[in-house]
Amino acid sequence: MVADCGVREARAAVRAAYEAFCRWREVSAKERSSLLRKWYNLMIQNKDDLARIITAESGKPLKEAHGEILYSAFFLEWFSEEARRVYGDIIYTPAKDRRALVLKQPIGVAAVITPWNFPSAMITRKVGAALAAGCTVVVKPAEDTPFSALALAELASQAGIPSGVYNVIPCSRKNAKEVGEAICTDPLVSKISFTGSTTTGKILLHHAANSVKRVSMELGGLAPFIVFDSANVDQAVAGAMASKFRNTGQTCVCSNQFLVQRGIHDAFVKAFAEAMKKNLRVGNGFEEGTTQGPLINEKAVEKVEKQVNDAVSKGATVVTGGKRHQLGKNFFEPTLLCNVTQDMLCTHEETFGPLAPVIKFDTEEEAIAIANAADVGLAGYFYSQDPAQIWRVAEQLEVGMVGVNEGLISSVECPFGGVKQSGLGREGSKYGIDEYLELKYVCYGGL
Ligand code: NAP
Repeated sequence: MVADCGVREARAAVRAAYEAFCRWREVSAKERSSLLRKWYNLMIQNKDDLARIITAESGKPLKEAHGEILYSAFFLEWFSEEARRVYGDIIYTPAKDRRALVLKQPIGVAAVITPWNFPSAMITRKVGAALAAGCTVVVKPAEDTPFSALALAELASQAGIPSGVYNVIPCSRKNAKEVGEAICTDPLVSKISFTGSTTTGKILLHHAANSVKRVSMELGGLAPFIVFDSANVDQAVAGAMASKFRNTGQTCVCSNQFLVQRGIHDAFVKAFAEAMKKNLRVGNGFEEGTTQGPLINEKAVEKVEKQVNDAVSKGATVVTGGKRHQLGKNFFEPTLLCNVTQDMLCTHEETFGPLAPVIKFDTEEEAIAIANAADVGLAGYFYSQDPAQIWRVAEQLEVGMVGVNEGLISSVECPFGGVKQSGLGREGSKYGIDEYLELKYVCYGGL
């Protein structure tokens, strides 16, 4: 049983975070770094329990949950290192009696709202950067996955992170709107960092606009996965499996539509279907060998089912899968469709489930045009052995992240984020900490 916070608790958490911020920003970068490192060490020591919490609350296969915990902990490790590498600048202006300084200072309290699909990593990716910069946070986790956020709070406390620096306000979906509004409009909050759907992101952007707050938005995607004639089929299939079926298709960087050139189309579809049948096993996330867990809820299953039925009614062919799985109401069969066309829902609506629709194309220009027709642009993948084509396509795809002959691209060292309606700002990498820092120009005169 988890507390269901309302507006009153949310405001109290913001107040606690603000009071803690007044002290935390004075803590030396070295000390903040050391506390983050301790938090990281505790995550590693408790990684098995933390992984089991993820599987229990989201259904994610245990092996993937272990992977998420490492990925999540690595953000704390990375930002413990970055905490000590925040540099300012000195600028020489034409005035001989002055020096211009640029200071980097923590923004203040950050309101952090996270989704259920990576219940641990989506928190540390933001909170690691925020705490390293000297900010404090109020985290509202998703209704479906509050336990990972709370387990992180326990470990933060054990690590010696002062109370009020990392605050969690679990709340029901019923309260999410009001609680979200309370933390995102509170004058004591200076920054909103959100990962979730584009629809919710737009609501939070309105809150931010009304009180002029800094924002980071990691929103939905519609990743194209393009296979050109020159591609190595085996590599392309391995990449397709990884980018489509991780977390049962429920990641924002999951391939949403497969664009396959005519010359390689039949070989790719055949090999992809064989790999799906051979390597994917639907089941309970705790069972050894399960690669595909349940979807997060029945609504998610209904969405996949609706997309499949829509595509089939408009002429798509089911190569494998195509219906709900016999295991129960939250399961769907890994599904491959071919003869897919752009008038089908699955090509312009994020699926967030185990559905791989294949569109056949003839020219590079055609593939780029289909990929760039989306109003979002988070990740994109393509397979080609032609160096000139690789440069052209990598530069032309309207996305924030590109996988070239690679289906798994997330790494704490690299900037994560999207363009168009996929969001604003970047997380992770050396750039991630800037999202929590303000620049202050100091003109030092009379010299
Ligand atoms: P969602 O509905 O937007 O929920 C995300 C978070 O926002 C949850 O904590 C949710 O609370 C909360 N929320 C919902 N409505 C709110 C409101 N009006 N005010 C304040 N908070 C509100 O997203 P989702 O469908 O659960 O998550 C999947 C989406 O996240 C996909 O679109 C995916 O692409 C995106 N995503 C993006 C990234 C990225 O880095 N770009 C990473 C992962 C996921 P409740 O749980 O209580 O509803």
